[in-house]
Amino acid sequence: MRLRRAARVILIGAPGVGKGTQSKRLLTRFPQLSAISSGDLLRHNVKTRTPLGIKVENTMKTGGLVSDDLILRLITNELGRRGWLYGGRPNFMTLSSSSEADTFGSALEADPLAGASLSPQASEDPAASFLLDGFPRTAAQAQRLDDIVPVNWVVSLQTPFDVIMERISSRWVHEPSGRVYNTAFNAPKVPGFDDVTGEPLVQRADDTEEVYRARFQKFQETSQPLLEHYAKKGVLWEVHGMSSDEISPKLYQEFENRFL
Ligand code: ADP
Repeated sequence: MRLRRAARVILIGAPGVGKGTQSKRLLTRFPQLSAISSGDLLRHNVKTRTPLGIKVENTMKTGGLVSDDLILRLITNELGRRGWLYGGRPNFMTLSSSSEADTFGSALEADPLAGASLSPQASEDPAASFLLDGFPRTAAQAQRLDDIVPVNWVVSLQTPFDVIMERISSRWVHEPSGRVYNTAFNAPKVPGFDDVTGEPLVQRADDTEEVYRARFQKFQETSQPLLEHYAKKGVLWEVHGMSSDEISPKLYQEFENRFL
């Protein structure tokens, strides 16, 4: 199915809501969409020892958030590299402090946007369609992204807390292989034991109600400003469902209405 216009999409949803599942399904169904994951880009930079990678390594290791400047630069460079921006060099680069510019001298040289003077603009070519994963995380990041590549569809995935909790608490894993079972819809043949090896299954320490409730609350707090930001821009769309299979068809239909 060919897109009529560029789709620049983000999915927002509580942990366990099935964001990963919906992303994967969208990418399969609409091959012109591609995923851009801030976590993957960062890990790639760390692995290949770029100046940016070296700078963010510790922050990532300790579970902190990488600065907005760096994340913005990373995403912008990636979009530029793919040929999805035209215009010029983003303002935040020209405005960055000289010490930053030194640190990133080599990164900037490799920057496909370097040298031009205007702010880059998003390409409206349907081939420049993407699903962002892990970014933006805060309203401040969203604000800055808007100046470069305005996201044009933000999906808020909604499943009641109790339903997700139920799903999580019926999850069992075979630790050595990573095989995951769910007593509600993907039960092992023998309760409590792995189908392949017959070894015992365990529940993850963070799959408890207490831990999940805390993660859920944290998500609610941090996502609220992000959702409000996009609601104000008129691009927020909410979808409700008890399961991924209930949500997917609604998501496809709306995507088609907007972009096909
Ligand atoms: P997780 O979902 O476990 O946080 P990610 O792969 O999305 O994993 O990100 C890994 C790490 O990369 C984060 O812990 C954080 O340090 C950094 N990171 C990713 N995205 C962002 C972002 N939008 N803003 C700041 N830091 C980010």
